[in-house]
Amino acid sequence: MTLVFHGVRGSHPVADSRMMRYGGNTSCVEIVKTNKEGKKVPVIIDSGSGFIPLGYTMAKQLISKEYLPTFPLLFTHLHPDHTEGFNFFAPNFFNFCTIYIMGMKALKKDVGLILKRKMDPPVFPIEYRDFKSHRIHEVLKDGDLFYIGQDGVPTAEKNDPLFEIRVMQAFAPSHPQQGALYYRITDSEDGSSIACIWDIESHIGGDVRVINFSQGADLMVHDTQYTKEEYINRSNPVQGFGHSTYTMAIENAAESKVKYLCSFHYSPRHTDDMLDGIAKKQNGVHPFEFIMSVEGLSLSLDHGKIVKRENLRLGFA
Ligand SMILES: [Zn+2]
Ligand SMILES: [Zn+2]
Repeated sequence: MTLVFHGVRGSHPVADSRMMRYGGNTSCVEIVKTNKEGKKVPVIIDSGSGFIPLGYTMAKQLISKEYLPTFPLLFTHLHPDHTEGFNFFAPNFFNFCTIYIMGMKALKKDVGLILKRKMDPPVFPIEYRDFKSHRIHEVLKDGDLFYIGQDGVPTAEKNDPLFEIRVMQAFAPSHPQQGALYYRITDSEDGSSIACIWDIESHIGGDVRVINFSQGADLMVHDTQYTKEEYINRSNPVQGFGHSTYTMAIENAAESKVKYLCSFHYSPRHTDDMLDGIAKKQNGVHPFEFIMSVEGLSLSLDHGKIVKRENLRLGFA
């Protein structure tokens, strides 16, 4: 399976020339595999602004039948940096597309109804019902286990699936208000496994639930919104904001015994130079490989090892 980062920024998008190398788009990750008929089947996590360029590329490849028109869109939670791209996702306008919208129930509403509410008049020029795609809302909760079949459909039955997906939910204070969902996605064919752990404030010494959930995964994508200095700064405190430091991510990755840790959900105030400086300090000092996520970075895993790395940065054209 291949992991592609389409948006790596947290909180809000940035359009600052000092931040374009790592990328300004907010949270959107695609994990994709080719099914037995040769079609790409994506599992997409979050629809931050990085979901918009992915949508334009998918639209072309849906027309050329490279992508299967049925796929799941999983939400970690519904803060704007994880949903702001949804209304602009081009395949929403295709009547032949079926999108399984999956996420937590919050305020007694399923994830789809909350996305719909974000389009109710007068805040957006069209309404949710104007989309031509077929959208199916499914609620996920802590401990869920499901599969994505060769047909792109989520199912409880293990019948020659492409992916196995496990769900962990944590509530405040891990992340404010309704908490967030975290996913462990396993390639059903070769067993490669990715733990998706973002929008979480870990604990000093490691988050035991995260460590148990991620134990033995090959790759972990972890929230690294803050430096340690920012986290303990007394004049501008960020403790309790629901995000982790690099140190917290490193502790969770080491205790989980992953082979690769990808930093993710960067502060919108961290420039490329700052992120380069952080990357330099990680060289060769951890029991895993430390990888800075970058918008467009694609990592292909085979039996738990990264076998191909490239940058596929998508544009809007
Ligand atoms: Zn976020
Ligand atoms: Zn959040």
